[in-house]
Amino acid sequence: MNPIALTYDQHFQSAIAQLKAENRYRTFANLERDAARFPTALWRPEGEEDSPREVTIWCSNDYLGMGGHRRVLDAARDALDRHGAGAGGTRNISGTHNPIVELETELADLHGKPAALVFTSGWISNLAGISTIASLLPNCLILSDALNHNSMIEGIRRSGCEKQVWRHNDVDHLEELLQAAGKERAKLIVFESLYSMDGDIAPVAEVVTLAEKYNALTYVDEVHAVGMYGARGGGICQREGVESRIDIVEGTLAKGYGALGGYIAASPAIVDAVRSYAPQFIFTTTLPPMVAACARAAVRHLKESGEERARHQHMARLTKHALRAAGLPVMDNSSHIVPLMVGDAARCKKASDLLLRRHSIYIQPINYPTVAIGTERLRITPTPRHDEAHVAELVEALVDVWSTLGLPFTESKVIPLHAGKPPLEAHCTYSELKRAAE
Ligand SMILES: *Cc1c(COP(=O)(O)O)cnc(C)c1O
Repeated sequence: MNPIALTYDQHFQSAIAQLKAENRYRTFANLERDAARFPTALWRPEGEEDSPREVTIWCSNDYLGMGGHRRVLDAARDALDRHGAGAGGTRNISGTHNPIVELETELADLHGKPAALVFTSGWISNLAGISTIASLLPNCLILSDALNHNSMIEGIRRSGCEKQVWRHNDVDHLEELLQAAGKERAKLIVFESLYSMDGDIAPVAEVVTLAEKYNALTYVDEVHAVGMYGARGGGICQREGVESRIDIVEGTLAKGYGALGGYIAASPAIVDAVRSYAPQFIFTTTLPPMVAACARAAVRHLKESGEERARHQHMARLTKHALRAAGLPVMDNSSHIVPLMVGDAARCKKASDLLLRRHSIYIQPINYPTVAIGTERLRITPTPRHDEAHVAELVEALVDVWSTLGLPFTESKVIPLHAGKPPLEAHCTYSELKRAAE
């Protein structure tokens, strides 16, 4: 290497060294998912790629296991055979294929909106959606929840508009800001319906009511709710009956729907404006027909079937109860997310490593900047495809890891899972769990 290249490289090395010093350096697990046996997967440890080990995934955002659903796989095979691998271009240049048009119709219907637009990811849909909508409004003020996702923050930045941050889920604070801005000024309220790290849910009805009172536009990220909440899987706003009062819904096709892509659903004018002005939409190749077909099959299936949603909620409740009964510090919330507090980056990483190496359980540590320093955690995501035996194994493994690392237990809480049922005891066995689950 020439000496100049060497000095350049030193900058990158020191940037990495800094992350390592702060225990923020991320390592990836090389996994091979088994569609038929999810949440079981093969893990190939670094340097031992030839001797994979069977592990159980407990942190997937394929929340409902739709990535391996029969209907989704059939749709993929069919679309692949009929249309081939890629899309062949941007939407403007031969990339508008029938499966993506059908997907957009499906998504508009999902949210009861007249139009929808698909992007290559949820991240891109927030960047494109927020920045384009806000920048087309004169002197727009963006009111952003303090815990909004990075993709929304990047969208706000790119819009070039003024931004004010309201305290997380604090509608009184939001009202103060709305009032100060006045009814005449253009205002865009951006927030999430379900925050994925704490698993808490936004007061969507109150936000919408305030938006109407002060004449603001609402943009809600339902990424962690679509497929999983509402009678047809339309998300929290659908469940709360305020869907028609929200102006722009944004969602992903990569989590509850198990595929890839993101979208917005809104009025024809908003969708047409984003389609026409957003470079993140215009200058990139369309999702392949196969991916659009997968996503559409998942959306359609979950519009009709409530079975996955019911079992998902059930497994989340069961997991929370079993962990609490064992004295593990589960954060309280009313969603499907099960955050287990560690509160320290190094120990969080150690807990995750021990779970994988000693117990064949994969739960990625969640560190800064994804969550605040001092709130590092394990984020557990039960799916309908986990069963009671998986939960019993998880509890046993976590109790061992907590003991090994000297992490604090809370007072073991015995809470009945269902009224009239015997409560779960600490260190409950598989059969006790099964009984509680019945
Ligand atoms: C994951 C996520 C996104 C991005 O969605 P992708 O489809 O994964 O790009 C957007 N918003 C929130 C809140 C997310 O958690």
